[in-house]
Amino acid sequence: MPIQEVKHIWRNGEMIPWAEATTHVLTHGLHYGSAVFEGMRAYETKPKGVCVFRNRDHIERLKFSARVYQIEIDYSVEELMQACRDIVRENGLASAYIRPVAYLGYGEMGPASTAAKSEIAIAAFPWGAYLGDDGMKNGVEVAVSSWRRMAPGTVPAGVKAAGNYLSSRLISIEAKDRGFEEGIGLSHDGTVSEGAGENLFVVHKGRLHTPPASSSILSGITRDTIITLAGKLGFEVVEQAFPREFLYSADEIFMTGTAAEVTPVRSIDKLEVNNLDFPITRQIQNAFFGLFNGETEDEWGWLDPVG
Ligand code: PMP
Repeated sequence: MPIQEVKHIWRNGEMIPWAEATTHVLTHGLHYGSAVFEGMRAYETKPKGVCVFRNRDHIERLKFSARVYQIEIDYSVEELMQACRDIVRENGLASAYIRPVAYLGYGEMGPASTAAKSEIAIAAFPWGAYLGDDGMKNGVEVAVSSWRRMAPGTVPAGVKAAGNYLSSRLISIEAKDRGFEEGIGLSHDGTVSEGAGENLFVVHKGRLHTPPASSSILSGITRDTIITLAGKLGFEVVEQAFPREFLYSADEIFMTGTAAEVTPVRSIDKLEVNNLDFPITRQIQNAFFGLFNGETEDEWGWLDPVG
């Protein structure tokens, strides 16, 4: 889906016109992948109007990602949270996908450069259901990829860095070339890791299972949201590595992420899940979207009004 242009982008502390948010071809981040980013959403909520969802948690993860790769961010968590609110409001968006990105800029070549200055920008634009409205309703068809996720001790999967998405790209394009809607990767040890841009939950005999941090996942903020909401609904959630065949005995499977929200999975490698009515997935979806329509009380302060 093409990006829908809006008026402004926040860059290095200023609102600039969308078309001026460009960068030099010798930008360090473009050559060495020295870029970290976030994917966030703003929703039009019943209780509090237009809100950024889990603003602080996303900005804290951005700061953590930047810290790992020694990309200086000259703005505080509070300042960046404010910039996220501002970019949604200034563009008059009722709901939006928000993309903060921090990267090493122009100035010096070489992967260990300390002279390339960091840049930071935040864009916001409209974006619907990442895996489609039909996928959100009826579930998506998913394949296990021939590509493994990066192993622990290679590049950190738990950091949201641009380079990690080379793995996601290979996994996702392979799946799409084969006629599936999304791909999932296995870890270095053959256990299940995650989708190209989503965490994975398997419903098995009433329990929810999801791979742990050690299975080369990005510890998603939506994953954390779902673990919390599932607990409230009385479900047991098991964070433990599991083998590929566990997917084939699933009662239900769903994927979570800021872009994908909570998307049911119909089949894995053409094998359908046991219950295509997705009764537990529907409860989880309702609890999640209930945060925005007011049916789920936001006990955690996750809704941050743009003002
Ligand atoms: N894993 C990967 C590889 C992702 O790109 C994403 C999306 N950011 C997720 C998991 C889910 O993370 P979150 O819920 O924080 O968006």
